Amino acid sequence: MEEWTQRIHPDDTAAVMADVQSCFDGATPHYVNEHRVLCKDGSYKWILDRGIIIDRDAAGQPTRMTGTHTDVTARRMAAEALRNAKALAEENARAKSEFLANMSHEIRTPMNGVIGLTQLALNLPASAELRDYLEKIAASSQNLLSILNDILDFSKLDAGQMPLELEPFDLDAMVDNLRGLFEAQIRAKQLDFKIQVQDGTPRDLVGDALRIQQVLTNLLSNAVKFTERGQVVLAITLQKIEDGHALLNFCVEDQGIGIAEEDQEKLFRAFSQVDGSITRRFGGTGLGLAISQSLLRLMDSRFSVRSALGQGSSFSFELRLGIAAEHLDRPRTLRRRTDRQAGELAHKLNEMGHALHGRTVLVVEDNEVNQRVVCEFLKLAGLTSVVANNGQEALNVLAQQRVDAVLMDMHMPVMGGAEATEKIRANPEFARLPIIALTAGATQEERQRCMNCGMNDFIAKPVKPETLLETLCRRISPAADYVAEPPLPAAEGGGFPDAPGFDLDYALELLGGDRELLLELLGLFGQSMEGISDKIGAEATAGNLTAARNHAHKLKGSAANCGAKALCDIVTQLENELQAGRFETATFAAFAAEFERTMATIAAITAAANA
Ligand code: ADP
Repeated sequence: MEEWTQRIHPDDTAAVMADVQSCFDGATPHYVNEHRVLCKDGSYKWILDRGIIIDRDAAGQPTRMTGTHTDVTARRMAAEALRNAKALAEENARAKSEFLANMSHEIRTPMNGVIGLTQLALNLPASAELRDYLEKIAASSQNLLSILNDILDFSKLDAGQMPLELEPFDLDAMVDNLRGLFEAQIRAKQLDFKIQVQDGTPRDLVGDALRIQQVLTNLLSNAVKFTERGQVVLAITLQKIEDGHALLNFCVEDQGIGIAEEDQEKLFRAFSQVDGSITRRFGGTGLGLAISQSLLRLMDSRFSVRSALGQGSSFSFELRLGIAAEHLDRPRTLRRRTDRQAGELAHKLNEMGHALHGRTVLVVEDNEVNQRVVCEFLKLAGLTSVVANNGQEALNVLAQQRVDAVLMDMHMPVMGGAEATEKIRANPEFARLPIIALTAGATQEERQRCMNCGMNDFIAKPVKPETLLETLCRRISPAADYVAEPPLPAAEGGGFPDAPGFDLDYALELLGGDRELLLELLGLFGQSMEGISDKIGAEATAGNLTAARNHAHKLKGSAANCGAKALCDIVTQLENELQAGRFETATFAAFAAEFERTMATIAAITAAANA
């Protein structure tokens, strides 16, 4: 026994002894274990060791055991070789997917340029012939982009890197959007297009609207592509409602060329088309259904197909979707594509940007063509742009001039978007400066990454001019700047200039209407409080919350006396938090920005008074 156990591989000994023991105890009737045993030549062999107790003494202790030892080294080696080969194959597949993802990403950048510049060119007056060429470039580049998107999606799905987003969406908006996407094509082919949503189907749902729409778009585009006459129907029916979820059936049916039964199993294979001649006649990558099937799998569903050659096809799938609590969240709206006439874009952007005319946007982007496209969109909208080629240049620009918002590319040489944003936010002066990411990926993950480094919003590339303007309008508030411009000098002798954040009338009342005194007080405040915001920040960061609170307290009193109401409010909040032993960076950033604004206003008031 002793000698036998000593020959077991040290890593296997414990397991062998435990198994033997449980057999001795009667817990298991047989003893079975695979382990390595040391041979005379110093090598190890894998042994399948099987035993059974055949006799026990009166006390129940085992006295005799019998069993077999089988050499299973060859089988173990083969299994290990297989495991290694599988790991290698998986690694290769991952590398391939990564390569595809990177390549598609790289190709998207110049594509952004082609699409953006074509849109701009279409906006200029041009001969009918040139316009025709440009429209063809626009259509081809959109086509190419959708192929790229397919490849990107396919490689992400293949690598298991496609996260699903669960967000509220409006089913009607999705259906409208699909109608808009296919209307023109269907009209051109003179097909009959029916969309039927069963009565009683909940419209406010929760799910990945973009992905569901992607699947339906693919089905509809195939249906239209392969149907010459007759109808195409999109039917959505409610199967049941339970536990706050709706089970919906989506079905796209056509009366087109149909698919032979023996070909139906090929449908969902990547890069495969039912018939080579079809590819040449109709185009396509053969990826659409493979991607759609994988997307459905992610959503716990799958296609069912009914089709007969020459009679048409129907593709359907069921989805279990959450029902959104009414009015809880704003549904995501999905946009439809439109064709444009010359000058229309300029007109539209100009109108959209009306409230922002004259504002300055810093465009941080390393690709020259994309810089040009974004700057032109801004120009058409009546905004001014400043360009930085990377994050470091952006910091330099911000140190020298005032801007109203930053559009920040994520991947740039020298300094990327995330790092640049963190550096900008580290300066309290820029606490409220809108920073909007320009990103190629529109996933929840990517969005989260932008938000984590302090950005306010994001725009997916290729940048659509309307989205750009909508986002800027949402982020640049027309009424309050992130740092107010110093106010204009006083108009008449007795009054004060408009001073945002101040209640000067109240302060004057406090001082018995003594205007000179108030001016003196403001000057004094400006001098004595200079740098106090930095002091508070430094003390609090060093953990000296009491010292920080004392500074804040002093500032609060002075601010109240000279009518700096907004500053007084925020410094009161800061003081209370410090008092409670908390240092909230968000409060401090808001405070620091307000402090800068107050100091600028005071400087302007006193300058105007002295002029
Ligand atoms: P593609 O992007 O090339 O259209 P899909 O994966 O969407 O690729 O479709 C693969 C093939 O399946 C098509 O090339 C066509 O042969 C066949 N197919 C798909 N939908 C239909 C349909 N509604 N009617 C007839 N054939 C279809």
